[in-house]
Amino acid sequence: MTRPKKSPTQHKYIFVVGGVMSGVGKGVASSSIAKIMQSRGLEVTSIKIDPYVNVDAGTMNPTEHGEVFVLDDGTECDQDMGNYERFLDRDLSGANYMTTGSIYKTVIERERSMGYGGRSVSVVPYIPLEVMGRIDRAAALAKAEVVITEIGGTVGEYENILFLEAIRMVKFKHPKDVLVVLVSHLPIMNDENELKTKPTQHAVRALNATGLQPDIILARAKYPLDDKRKEKIAFNCNLDVEDVISAPDVSSIYDVPVNFESDNLGNLILRKLGMRPRAKDMKEWRAFAAKFHSAKDAVKIGIVGKYFASGKFVLADSYLSVIEAIKHAAAFAGVKPEIQWLDSGKFESGAAADLAELDQYDGIIVPGGFGSRGVEGKLAAIRHCRESKIPYFGLCYGMQLATVEFARDVLKMKGANTTEVDPKTKYPIIDILPEQKKLMADSNYGATMRLGAYPAVLKKGTIAERAYGTGKISERHRHRYEVNPAFVERLERGGLVFSGQSPSRRLMEVAELPRAVHPFFVGTQFHPELKSRPLRPHPLFREFMKAAKERGKR
Ligand code: GLN
Repeated sequence: MTRPKKSPTQHKYIFVVGGVMSGVGKGVASSSIAKIMQSRGLEVTSIKIDPYVNVDAGTMNPTEHGEVFVLDDGTECDQDMGNYERFLDRDLSGANYMTTGSIYKTVIERERSMGYGGRSVSVVPYIPLEVMGRIDRAAALAKAEVVITEIGGTVGEYENILFLEAIRMVKFKHPKDVLVVLVSHLPIMNDENELKTKPTQHAVRALNATGLQPDIILARAKYPLDDKRKEKIAFNCNLDVEDVISAPDVSSIYDVPVNFESDNLGNLILRKLGMRPRAKDMKEWRAFAAKFHSAKDAVKIGIVGKYFASGKFVLADSYLSVIEAIKHAAAFAGVKPEIQWLDSGKFESGAAADLAELDQYDGIIVPGGFGSRGVEGKLAAIRHCRESKIPYFGLCYGMQLATVEFARDVLKMKGANTTEVDPKTKYPIIDILPEQKKLMADSNYGATMRLGAYPAVLKKGTIAERAYGTGKISERHRHRYEVNPAFVERLERGGLVFSGQSPSRRLMEVAELPRAVHPFFVGTQFHPELKSRPLRPHPLFREFMKAAKERGKR
């Protein structure tokens, strides 16, 4: 590859890599850099590269890898993609996500179909070339002036080495258009509160060994960096002191872009990329971020699920979008959300004394899930919410189970169930539709999931229609089972309202109880949490929060 005389590129590249250790907020840092570039009036897009051999995130266990995020086009991807969408308020596509597996798959398939014309296809340059091609395609698709690419993993490990090679090759081709940001971590030893810089120095040496030099270091740490530490990093890593940005822990991730801008990161990036200075417009974002600190009244939200030895940290990661959607709605309502994980196991007995625990909450959510463990406990919790008029919001499985509960307890269909739990139930309220059954029989499991955005129409005057303020919506899905059309009429006659349906009316998308019966009892077959944005909280989360706030006043 030769260097073009004049760079034909229309976009600038920012690469975000991690040093020292994972889990220090590289995704939030990447999202925040994207946000501040966008607030400078630039068209921006964000890419995530995951070093896994998995072709997409659909097969990854959420308790290991975090939530599986779903895009409009049905791409199952890393939760960082959700952060990009939330910070940028843009819908991204599969073009913005790649894994080692997906890249190799493309290269191998191209090779098999003689796409390389008989050449021997070596890992370098062909794997990095595929990565580069995808970055440019995603940038072109978004008409982006700046494309921010986050490399998963940590510098120095084997699995992302080819991605770093791709950065080197992009930089070789467009020397003036590439910026490398290293997100590092400064640990604290003992209780002297001294932030240690040595691991960062090692990370930079490891990056140097790949032919790359960071242009900016974001120093993540418990506390802000003092000048001495900044100077030490700058001197040992060949940087100016101003290139070392202090990124201390914050209580809300939405503060990060604001903090970056008060450190002048926007100007620094523009200057380093040879772009003219531009005014920033962060007023709306700043006002939103400030709401997290000003809200005083707490609203208690319980999330009921099967929590098996996973711990709080893992839970927060597995249901990241649900938590963020709650936060957006709470900021909108001017309240402070207090989220509690409630293990459905403890409601399994159905004992009134156990269920009474739910009464202290202002709202209950049953989020998405798979399999039969914990289902009876969720059903008991849903019944209690319905009977005690506690605001209830069911997301996907939470909607399916609310429908089952209604059939069992209101329509007296004893043993009603989803066939996911009881394939032989007399009342298969939730079932696989025949068209999907055939795909299952052919072992085409991937294709049996309803994935990505599907349209729905809403019934006039319902909670859903009023919340959205429109009769036509599009929402993201990730599930196999559906409300069984054979039971819809009986359920509706009994009082459950299917306020959202597919345009063909075959698939039930939203189930609710009328407001006259219950302050808020709504379930969605789709995942509304995937489309909630900080400045545009999801309409149904907004309504749920309003009902919860109302209950909080009691
Ligand atoms: N297990 C249910 C299904 O496959 C619900 C899935 C979900 O909640 N995402 O239909």
